[in-house]
This record gives sequence, C-alpha cells and structure tokens, in this order.
Amino acid sequence: MPHLLISGGTRGIGKACAELFAGKGYKVSSLSRTGKPDKEAVNGVSYFKCDVRDPGEVNKTVNDAVLENGTVDVLISNAGISVTGLAQDMKFEVYRDVMDTNFGGLFNLANAVIPGMVNQGHGVILAVSSMWGQTGASCEALYSASKGAVDSYVKSLAKELGPSGIRVNAVSPGVIDTDMMNCYTEEDKEALCDETPAGRLGTPEEVAETLFFLQSGKASFITGQIIGVNGGFLI
Ligand code: NDP
Repeated sequence: MPHLLISGGTRGIGKACAELFAGKGYKVSSLSRTGKPDKEAVNGVSYFKCDVRDPGEVNKTVNDAVLENGTVDVLISNAGISVTGLAQDMKFEVYRDVMDTNFGGLFNLANAVIPGMVNQGHGVILAVSSMWGQTGASCEALYSASKGAVDSYVKSLAKELGPSGIRVNAVSPGVIDTDMMNCYTEEDKEALCDETPAGRLGTPEEVAETLFFLQSGKASFITGQIIGVNGGFLI
C-alpha cells in the first residue's frame, strides 16, 4: 500500500485528505502540533505529534512514520496558519511564525522525504498553497508572501527532482470553509461568496480530490504547476 505523509491531517483540508486517501487504502501518517484529530480518529491514519517549524522534530517524526508505514510515496505539505492585520503592525515573531510554518514546513518536510524518494526512484510532493500567494492580499501580506515562497519552491523542486522520478505540484485554494475561516463574520463570508463566480465557499473535500488526482498516475505528466481550486475567484 502506498504511504501518504501529510502535515495538518487533523482538521480542514488535511483531514479531508486523510479520510480520502485512507478510504482508498493508503497508509496515512498525519503530523500536527496536537497530534490528535479534532473529533474522532479516521481509520487507517497514524497520528504523530510534530511541529513542522522544527527540522529536528520533523526528521525524527518522519523516521518514526517510515518505520510504521514504509517509505513515503506521497508528501502533502498542508499545515498552515494565517494572520490578518496591517503589514506595518506585524511583529518579527509573527513573521517568523508564518514563514516557518507555511514555507518552513514545506522545506523541512521535503528535506526529510526526498532522500527516500530518490532511493526508490519515485515520489510525489504536493503543497497546499493559496491563491493569495499568486495575487497578494491586502491585510494578509505575510501570509501571501509565505505562499508565494511555496509556489517558487514547488517550481524549483520540480525542475531539480524531475530527473529522479519525483513530481512536485501545488494546489492553490480560494476560500474554503474550514476553521481557518473562523475569524470571518457571516457577513464577511457572504461577501467572499459574492466575489467567487461559483457563488459559494469551496469545501475541504474539493481540495482533497484535486490533490488525489495530482498524486495519481492520471497526472503523470504534470509537474511544477500551481493548480487553482478557487471557484473562479482568481482567473
Ligand atoms: P485549519 O486551520 O483547518 O487546519 C490547519 C492544520 O494545520 C491543523 O491540522 C493544524 O493542527 C496544523 N498545523 C498548524 N500549524 C502547525 C505546525 N506548526 N505544525 C504542524 N501542524 C500544524 O486549516 P485549513 O485546512 O483551512 O488549511 C490547510 C492549508 O490550506 C493551509 O496551508 C492553508 O494556508 C491553506 N489554505 C486554506 C484556505 C482556506 O480558505 N481555508 C485557502 C487557501 C489555502 P494543530 O493545530 O494540531 O497543529
């Protein structure tokens, strides 16, 4: 059975991925700070406590996951945080937190799995980015910058790792109905729906299905791409 290693598989988009992949028979390792699912555990998912900002913790946890579930076939770097506010008000600690989680998480996880993927001669690395990384968001400048870094890294890794049989892509979601949206009022959410040509928020399952396609053999000639899942918000 293939092994999916995913960060943030306990809630939102990550949880939808964990459910989808485990349901299709994948062994799934989820890494998150609490190490626990928000509600009930998903069958077939191994939960590990790991902060993706810490390279030592990531290396140790990936080793533990490999011992339990075998070499990683698919990595989804999904864990992320968002911070809203004026750029000029952001403290250095906030900058570190956002960059170390959203970009550093991909950097640390990719470094931990690439040697195994190169050895086995195949692998897929996927990142959950954001449309704001492509276009920039007012009052989410740090978040947007961290996702812009993710997009550039994905493109570079795709070039570097293609000859080793490893494909690297990102999905770039629009507004998806998860805990990350809790900071918005119902009015804010309605306004975001109005701005989305599809007229609604996306679901975590719709992002998970795109990630499943991207790791499958059906996407065998797709690498280095940033795939929008945004209901037409950004075209
Ligand atoms: P949620 O807030 O619902 O879930 C975030 C997940 O990441 C949780 O499982 C959390 O677990 C984990 N996590 C956060 N920080 C860390 C850390 N330092 N180390 C390990 N795990 C961590 O978020 P979403 O599902 O909404 O978002 C998932 C991804 O999708 C993010 O990268 C986000 O930027 C991106 N995205 C989301 C959009 C949306 O509208 N929801 C739109 C565009 C992109 P724990 O707290 O236990 O660590």
